[in-house]
Amino acid sequence: MAKYKLEYIWLDGYTPVPNIRGKTLVKEFSSFPKLEDLPLWGFDGSSTRQAEGHSSDCVLKPVSSYPDPTVKNGVIVLNEVMHPDGTPHSTNARATIIDDPGTWFGFEQEYFLYSEGRPLGFPAAGFPPPQGPYYTGVGYQFVGDIAREIVNTHLDYCLEAGINHEGINAEVAKGQWEFQIFGKGSKTAADQMWVARYLLVRLCEKYKVDVNFHCKPLGMDVDWNGSGMHSNFSTEYMRSVGGKEYFEKLMAAFDKYKNEHIAVYGPDNHMRLTGLHETQSIDKFNYGVANRGASIRVPHSFVKNGYKGYLEDRRPNSQGDPYKIASRILQTIQTVPTK
Ligand code: ADP
Ligand code: MN
Ligand code: MN
Ligand code: MN
Repeated sequence: MAKYKLEYIWLDGYTPVPNIRGKTLVKEFSSFPKLEDLPLWGFDGSSTRQAEGHSSDCVLKPVSSYPDPTVKNGVIVLNEVMHPDGTPHSTNARATIIDDPGTWFGFEQEYFLYSEGRPLGFPAAGFPPPQGPYYTGVGYQFVGDIAREIVNTHLDYCLEAGINHEGINAEVAKGQWEFQIFGKGSKTAADQMWVARYLLVRLCEKYKVDVNFHCKPLGMDVDWNGSGMHSNFSTEYMRSVGGKEYFEKLMAAFDKYKNEHIAVYGPDNHMRLTGLHETQSIDKFNYGVANRGASIRVPHSFVKNGYKGYLEDRRPNSQGDPYKIASRILQTIQTVPTK
């Protein structure tokens, strides 16, 4: 027998963006525990904006687990929040989303590293030299001295935890970075994104750095990029059958439901989707081959392969909830008949 440290994490009730919460449970197992070995647990919902009425007990229901890369005998346990009667809490988006293991998602998470209230590498007053050399930049003047250690350590942690982290790049603004997560099925992909966010935020503690996920942290009046979470998706049908006719019907459906998409694509997106900085305006929908100013970018490979493969929805922002984003994409796709 060994004592395992189970780090139960969940999303709290803050709006419009939940925080990740976590607490540790020590429990003995004869070997590394499987998901079904992990007990329900609870917390005080009155401290996380999840209590309703006089009863403040909320239940944590484990839904996926990952070896904790930084803790001996540690397990990260991702939970859904439930009422004591077993029904999902109103803050539990995961419980009610559409899932389909045949639909693959690739999320590109952009974010800023912040220190002392400003992007890492910004001077105490004013701004660094303008955007240009920072995207995929190399060198102290562009990325500073600790960011690369953070992003590479985060990559290692994700891989050790079994998360499909697929890559990193320094982004357009100074102090801004991106990582990509790929998963099959809405729940798998979105679970991995939330755990990857958790690992990054936790890792940054010891550097006295915060992760700023806001989509336009420097505001709209300056020439500094915002942060998105481009959401790449492909259904089984899109990968194996596809075709121009189906593609055009699909895009018509995305146009029809554009407002419903924007509603779950993250708060303050009007600050970011302005038509500038490689974005389309928030109230317009368009698509284009290799067009980074479009709502949906169609990769060259998609057209070359006879309109088969994946598409990139560029509208979701960096604070968006991947559960809701993936589910909305599937909901719109499901309105389009495949015959
Ligand atoms: P870019 O920055 O050029 O938009 P990235 O390389 O950052 O592209 O991201 C591309 C994303 O597309 C990755 O997250 C990858 O996992 C995802 N992706 C690739 N193929 C598929 C597919 N068939 N279905 C869904 N997502 C995919
Ligand atoms: Mn990218
Ligand atoms: Mn990017
Ligand atoms: Mn992209």
